Amino acid sequence: DTSEDVDPEDTLKSRPPVVTIMGHVDHGKTSLLDAIRGADVAAGEAGGITQHIGAYQVTPKGGDPITFLDTPGHEAFTEMRARGANVTDIVILVVAADDGLKPQTIEAINHTKAANVPMIVAINKIDKDGANPQKVREELLQHEVIVEAMSGDVQDVEVSAKKKTNIDKLLEAINLQAELLELKANPDRAADATVVEAKLDKGRGPVATVLIQRGTLKVGDTFVAGPAAGKVRALVDDHGRRVKEAGPSFPVEVLGLSALPSAGDPFTVVENEARAREVADYRQRKLDEQRTTAAPM
Ligand code: GDP
Repeated sequence: DTSEDVDPEDTLKSRPPVVTIMGHVDHGKTSLLDAIRGADVAAGEAGGITQHIGAYQVTPKGGDPITFLDTPGHEAFTEMRARGANVTDIVILVVAADDGLKPQTIEAINHTKAANVPMIVAINKIDKDGANPQKVREELLQHEVIVEAMSGDVQDVEVSAKKKTNIDKLLEAINLQAELLELKANPDRAADATVVEAKLDKGRGPVATVLIQRGTLKVGDTFVAGPAAGKVRALVDDHGRRVKEAGPSFPVEVLGLSALPSAGDPFTVVENEARAREVADYRQRKLDEQRTTAAPM
């Protein structure tokens, strides 16, 4: 693989943050993602069409774009991380104010700490009668998550995904955290990306949503995606629009795959098809080796 090389400092340009929402079941991850999508000014221009492609970008009014991984549940995050794909820059930890910390909240805290990813706490459901945001802050303290309201440095925002309260504040908190991280990538090179979702589409064949990590992916590029190879036939953005290229932190659907890759697979642009086959074969061999080691006969 050539993905180990480092881009020189002067080639780097700032890129949007990639955010994953985590939290206990029913604490409002899906509702919060929906509320956030509703705050996207670019969605209006596209006629409000919402595509489910596993990731999307939101540009809040007066703010910078933010990429959200639409993979509720912790599996995608842990699975991708286990496979070396650290695509998340910021984790939003959702805690229902009427329910407090629950096993999956604690699991999410542990995963986030292990990944060394900064966290923002969204204290959700503040519209409910039994809401007790202060209790949530105290419980977080017991797990060494010290929010700003408790004189720590983890941003916490009280929200209601249902009533769409303080969604703008949450987006501001993300923009602020992103500024602190000074996220950068070189857009002027062959693309390196990660598969976030892949499915077999009836009309279109194997389709993968990839998140560009550096470089710019273009129609016509030859690539390797996990053990599969291919040539980009078309690129579709999160509003269902055909695009000619996609740069760092952009999620995009790729058409033209020979087979289905898995979430977390590296997606790499290579010079030519011979090289693509070489890399794909190498990866397939490594996969076979791992299987043999994992299950000796
Ligand atoms: P997820 O399992 O974390 O994705 O949670 P959901 O988004 O599916 O929400 C679980 C339930 O809580 C649903 O019935 C939502 O309507 C409700 N819910 C989510 N956010 C809020 C909120 O801010 N206020 C209230 N009252 N209910 C909410």
